[in-house]
Amino acid sequence: MKSTCPYCGVGCGVLAKPVNDSVSVQGDAEHPANAGKLCIKGSQLSSTLTSHGRLQAPVVENQQTSWTQALDYVAEKFRQSIEQYGPDSVAFYLSGQILSEDYYVANKLMKGFIGSANVDTNSRLCMSSAVAAYKRAFGSDTVPNSYDDLEETDLMILIGSNAAWTHPILYQRMRAAQKKNPHYKMVVIDPKRSATAGEADLHLAIKPGTDAMLYNGLLAYLARVGKLDQTFINQHTNNFEQALEACPQTLTEVALFCGISENKLRQFYDWFANAKRSISFYSMGINQSNSGTDKCNAIINVHLASGQIGKPGCGPYSITGQPNAMGGREVGGLANTLAAHMEFDATGIDKVSRFWRSNNIAKAPGLKALDMFEAVEQDKIKVLWVIGTNPAVSLPDSDRIKRILQQCECLIVSDCMAETDTTQYADVLLPATGWGEKNGTVTNADRTISRQRGFIQPLGQARHDWWIISEVAKRLGYGDAFQYEHAYEIFREHAQLSGFENNGSRDFDISAFSNITQQQYDSLKPIQWPVNETYPSGKARMFDDQQFFTADKKANFIAITPKLPELNAADKNSLILNNGRGRDQWHTMTRTSAAKKLNSHELYPSVLINPLDAKKLSIMANDLVKIANKNSNTLAIAKLSTSQSPGECYMSIHWNQQFANKTKANNLTQFIADPVSGQPQYKQNRVQAQAV
Ligand code: SF4
Repeated sequence: MKSTCPYCGVGCGVLAKPVNDSVSVQGDAEHPANAGKLCIKGSQLSSTLTSHGRLQAPVVENQQTSWTQALDYVAEKFRQSIEQYGPDSVAFYLSGQILSEDYYVANKLMKGFIGSANVDTNSRLCMSSAVAAYKRAFGSDTVPNSYDDLEETDLMILIGSNAAWTHPILYQRMRAAQKKNPHYKMVVIDPKRSATAGEADLHLAIKPGTDAMLYNGLLAYLARVGKLDQTFINQHTNNFEQALEACPQTLTEVALFCGISENKLRQFYDWFANAKRSISFYSMGINQSNSGTDKCNAIINVHLASGQIGKPGCGPYSITGQPNAMGGREVGGLANTLAAHMEFDATGIDKVSRFWRSNNIAKAPGLKALDMFEAVEQDKIKVLWVIGTNPAVSLPDSDRIKRILQQCECLIVSDCMAETDTTQYADVLLPATGWGEKNGTVTNADRTISRQRGFIQPLGQARHDWWIISEVAKRLGYGDAFQYEHAYEIFREHAQLSGFENNGSRDFDISAFSNITQQQYDSLKPIQWPVNETYPSGKARMFDDQQFFTADKKANFIAITPKLPELNAADKNSLILNNGRGRDQWHTMTRTSAAKKLNSHELYPSVLINPLDAKKLSIMANDLVKIANKNSNTLAIAKLSTSQSPGECYMSIHWNQQFANKTKANNLTQFIADPVSGQPQYKQNRVQAQAV
């Protein structure tokens, strides 16, 4: 059976087949993302298909119960809260792990029928800055590129991305292309000498958070050396002069700000100025910042100014972290958008309400992730339904998040797993189907929609998320709009909505599937949206016609004033803590920890410290170290490495209460978000470290 790997945004195709009592999982040679290859996480998927730790029956107030009673209970809690406190007193917090069909139904219920836009998702933590920047520049949340561009470029710039570990199959594609093309250069911009940086032609270890200055400097440099595409700027963009005016005029200024040598800076700028085809490949290191949207726009500005967009091997390319972060965006999983990339404006509200035949549609954006949890803290949200995610570990300032979950009047959690850091606070636990049991679609980082297919029976009483939500919708009196019996019906409706009065005004359009049958859905092959009358076989590259989705069809430069991270109070020995994914684990380890082979890469929580700092702090290799700031503290084993710049340290994000009682990187991150996107600033936090 063909399916899609449930981990990262690369979205690799897999072939899964039952063998005796087990399942064999291999790469799908026909999938365009991976052509048969899998990274270590994907290759160990079969070991994660275990009943160990699974949630197998509904639980209400600590008592196992029937589905009927659990669903009645949930619906009653929603009804009471809405009647007493209004629709904004309830909320969904969703996940880039769930399928587009699940997302669609949740969004439809909350925004379309309950009348609140309090639907947000852990994808907010992953790529919302990239989304906000695309919308400012292009008028739409459009990822311009295709994975094939990674092979067609001459200059691959990875900024804020350790792709060798986080998007391994894409990284392998880049390295293979580099072997074939003697002109292919790889630049890595990362404060840490990561695995990716270690293999780059040039590594710029900039000071944490100085990326926008680096790209602003590049824009000014291109202007100085006469490498602007003036025709493209004049004909297809707005606001160039203002953007250029905001840029530093000397290399010295940029080098000092970013903490790198002028020679290295000049090398990078020269390579960009002279490359015919350049890609800026960016990820969480850019997005997870108090100015993530500005950083993304600084990158986009450079590609617009050099005309390096909409052409093979060129472009600003944001890479999603999760398997369905993009699918969630398409159906309206973010609190500030409507379904099918429509906005909360008069046109969007009118179209969606007519399509859903609802007169109770939400009229304004809802609360983004951090604001949503703050509203629970302030007792404004009374009923919170968390689906397929573990916010007690993954949200910043996790001690505060735990207190919020604990005080929530009614916390409902749908999950595959019985015991997570979040489920312990739930009033209601609903057993959801997991990978291998679910049926639906996901969209990866190059707009490719792929099927996840069920090849094993749901365990115990586990049910699909779309079914669970629809059953609650029926109990709330919206039965007519939620009569789904199969995921393909939801996909078909989603496709119809994407084409509804679209006429090319919106980028997301899969209207070619508006009459899809179950049989066609079952045999659906991976395909890149848009998929409509004009592009019946999908479209690899957007903006090849230099037409954008703004009112005047021109792209917008955004004038960027670089902003440094908001750091908590310092003392003379404090270090800046950076964090990110380890090579072999996924998110909060609820699935990957079941595969023994994946646990050997980082056997215990560790913190990477530069030997100079370790000496100053009297920390020896393998010491148990307490890392603390005003939020909390955490324990980890010291690893000394010159890959860390002095003054900085690094931890992986995966550890949590289930696996290491006192270790969690997010104990130490701040409850601060980018003001435009709402994406938290995970990456830079001051801490003190001492051996215990
Ligand atoms: Fe899965 Fe990502 Fe690895 Fe591909 S690269 S196998 S999608 S984890």
